[in-house]
Amino acid sequence: MSADCAECARLDREKEAARKSGDLSKVTDCDVLLRRHPHHSKGRALAGKGRA
Ligand SMILES: [Zn+2]
Repeated sequence: MSADCAECARLDREKEAARKSGDLSKVTDCDVLLRRHPHHSKGRALAGKGRA
C-alpha cells in the first residue's frame, strides 16, 4: 500500500504502531481516517467540489 500524501503516510505508520502495541481500537480509527481521505481516491470520482 503506497501512501501518496503525508497525512496518509502518517496515519499508516500510526496504524502499524498501534497494531504492534495491540491497540486495535486505534488501528480501526486510523483505518477509518485513511478511508475518509478523498483527495487521492482512485479515478477521482468525486468531481463536485464542496459537495457534502
Ligand atoms: Zn491522504
